[in-house]
Amino acid sequence: MKKTHKENTRLAHIGLAADEYFGIVNPPIARASTILYPSLAAYEDPNHKYRYGRMGNPLSEKFEHAIAEIENGFNARTTASGLSAITLALMSVLKQGDHALIVDTLYPPGRDFCNQVMAKFGVEIEYYDPHIGADIENLVKDNTALIYLESPGSGTFEIQDVPAITKVARAKGIKTIIDNTYAAGLLFKPLDHGVDYSLQSATKYIGGHSDINMGVVVARTEDDFKILKSMATNRGDCASAEDLYLGLRGLRTLTLRLKQNAQNALKVATWLKDQDGIADVLYPALESSPDHALWKRDFSGANGVFSIILEQSAKDAVHKFVDALELFPIGSSWGGYESLLQPQYLNKYRTITPRPSGEGALLRLQVGLEDPDDLIDDLAQALKIFNQEK
Ligand SMILES: *Cc1c(COP(=O)(O)O)cnc(C)c1O
Repeated sequence: MKKTHKENTRLAHIGLAADEYFGIVNPPIARASTILYPSLAAYEDPNHKYRYGRMGNPLSEKFEHAIAEIENGFNARTTASGLSAITLALMSVLKQGDHALIVDTLYPPGRDFCNQVMAKFGVEIEYYDPHIGADIENLVKDNTALIYLESPGSGTFEIQDVPAITKVARAKGIKTIIDNTYAAGLLFKPLDHGVDYSLQSATKYIGGHSDINMGVVVARTEDDFKILKSMATNRGDCASAEDLYLGLRGLRTLTLRLKQNAQNALKVATWLKDQDGIADVLYPALESSPDHALWKRDFSGANGVFSIILEQSAKDAVHKFVDALELFPIGSSWGGYESLLQPQYLNKYRTITPRPSGEGALLRLQVGLEDPDDLIDDLAQALKIFNQEK
């Protein structure tokens, strides 16, 4: 695959190896823990290609190379979930006595890990405002070892000024990690903006069908990759052969699905923002979004997730609205082909940027590949019921 090929051409071909597998287009699922060695010399050779399933196999290698290529990194490691990609990246960079600056809008289970595990091992965790930009410099201490970013932020979709933050980090020798799940590695290229590690939950758009859990961390340089690989080996990180196969397959239609998800979401979000009963729509692709300009500067597109804030958080009204929806069942996660809704109870997860409304009124929508007119009709009938509760 030539680096000069455009992204869609590369997505259609990366990781294929028909010559290794009798002409079969997709590299087959290779279920393997034990891998046999032809001789003792091969066993003793540290460069022998595949040693043990968990430590790397043909499918994990192809998937990791593919993601590293998409994100313009050196190489990647896969993990069993997006959350374990977060914890792998954090543990690769941080050690006892370090100070870590973590964005306040971090994926909530990642925040639990910071507070409950990293803190226990002697890392000082400090959260910062996602809109801090270059002012992050004021929070840097002598022992600051990490700035962790997530853009847009989980649940509330704030866009961070990534280049402004990495400029400070670079000047001070601080490592940076970003959760790039929203962009699926395509819509934003953090490593090109000076980020050291880009991770994502492949569970979301790469899987795309709500049937796998997998994570991946890409390192920008060979040195950073060595540290990542060593930590992944120590932790025993690996992914299942089936999930790796489905992840690789998901790449083939990734841009197509993302484009349709985004088109549908923009139509639904644009309609929603003018409706009675809706206080706000948090979607950076909307021109009315306060972060729209920043999003437009750095992102090549949007995906299908955004949040709405209802005009009232009275429990009865919110329950009636959510339960009246037919095409937005309640479900954690996003990135699949089907629409979903998940209430966001974020108050206990925000210490720097409390969200703007009463707990219970913030709902995240994942707009799937259904016809957006049907989705709008469904939201309209549920809003009608909600508005009768005023
Ligand atoms: C879902 C998600 C994760 C975690 O992925 P899992 O595979 O569910 O562990 C991490 N980061 C973000 C932003 C997510 O939305």
